[in-house]
Amino acid sequence: MSTLPACPQCASQYTYEDGDNFVCPECAHEWPKLAAVVADEVKVVRDANGNVLQDGDSVTVIKDLKVKGSSSVVKVGTKVKNIRLVDGDHDIDCKIDGFGAMQLKSEFVRKA
Ligand SMILES: [Zn+2]
Repeated sequence: MSTLPACPQCASQYTYEDGDNFVCPECAHEWPKLAAVVADEVKVVRDANGNVLQDGDSVTVIKDLKVKGSSSVVKVGTKVKNIRLVDGDHDIDCKIDGFGAMQLKSEFVRKA
């Protein structure tokens, strides 16, 4: 069984695929498949101020963060370049000068 989405306009279940689009036979609404997939899979990660973060963004740490398994601390104000968003409790993957590969929580950073 395929799992076609219901029509976003009239909620009809009788949608079908037509090339790169979904089509609703009841209200003739057409919408791209891509949008449906993207909306499903992309998790929005926001910084401490509620700004949306994206792969490749630079952020600033807003709180002293202890590095797990060591006595080092990533100091408030540390700039982090080229972040990568990941799934999980710590949703930012990055490299910090002097520390190496790290994972941060988006709630403790601010978009630079
Ligand atoms: Zn429809």
